[in-house]
Amino acid sequence: MARRYILIFCKIEYYMKRNYSPCISLISALVTTLILCISPSHTLAANKMEVHFIDVGQGDSTLIILPNSKTILTDVGNALAGPKIVRYVKALGIDTIDHLILTHAHDDHIGSISSIASEFRINSFYDNGLNNFENPDYGDYIKLVRSDLSKYNIMQAGESIMSGTVMIEVLNPLLPPTGNLNEDSIAIRISYGDIHIFLAGDIGQFTEKRLLKTDLELKSRILKAGHHGDNNAGSQKFLEKVKPENVIISLAANNQYALPHESALARFKKEDANIYRTDLNGTIVIKTDGKTYTIHSEKGTPQ
Ligand SMILES: [Zn+2]
Repeated sequence: MARRYILIFCKIEYYMKRNYSPCISLISALVTTLILCISPSHTLAANKMEVHFIDVGQGDSTLIILPNSKTILTDVGNALAGPKIVRYVKALGIDTIDHLILTHAHDDHIGSISSIASEFRINSFYDNGLNNFENPDYGDYIKLVRSDLSKYNIMQAGESIMSGTVMIEVLNPLLPPTGNLNEDSIAIRISYGDIHIFLAGDIGQFTEKRLLKTDLELKSRILKAGHHGDNNAGSQKFLEKVKPENVIISLAANNQYALPHESALARFKKEDANIYRTDLNGTIVIKTDGKTYTIHSEKGTPQ
């Protein structure tokens, strides 16, 4: 709000110096006020963290706005998702991504990297350091993400990012990597106070078993399901350890992979988790003060 007043003040001063009448100055200032008031901007409530599971069709893109206003974007959807992500994030008044995490080099996670990189200032890039030269656009990806080594970071299990009061723990890829792109996805657990949110990338049961053998803390009240609700992800033992109250599945309606799988949905239900799906619920937003949280969906109710 302070920025608006400063802009109005500057505009009044400009017109007075140019000897415009006070009336014109006042009208101009009011127009400016109106434009600024209806222009999109996003003010984060004090001590709040927001996690936006953006509906990008088949793929993932999750925006995290930390209580200190730093921003993390994990994944950028497929090649068609770019304009929607840009529009959505800019409408929140965000033009800088502090940490861009690319979970793995499949098109439904990195497809819009060019549009995101051209539209936002990105302070740091993270990926799992593994390659996918079968992707025809992979050369462009490397140029965008890895050419500036002062900004590029490899993420592996056991590392963490602390930003203000929020801790981002990296759970996967565990070493040595499996050689399977999905299983080697970056998976993170975001902790703010008592609230933990697990973003599982596209990991499947093979990695879940590996994680269960570690002493990494997995319990999380919100789980972004691995691999878009595939039957190969979200084993019963894994879910018993994570104990999610809410599961988010990011996918397109009528997708060619017939996801989500009924068996995976049944396992989430067995854990008494609410299921939110971007194909049915649109964009899903979690807001938390570190003690409690709310979930808002663009449409519909959870399953
Ligand atoms: Zn995927």
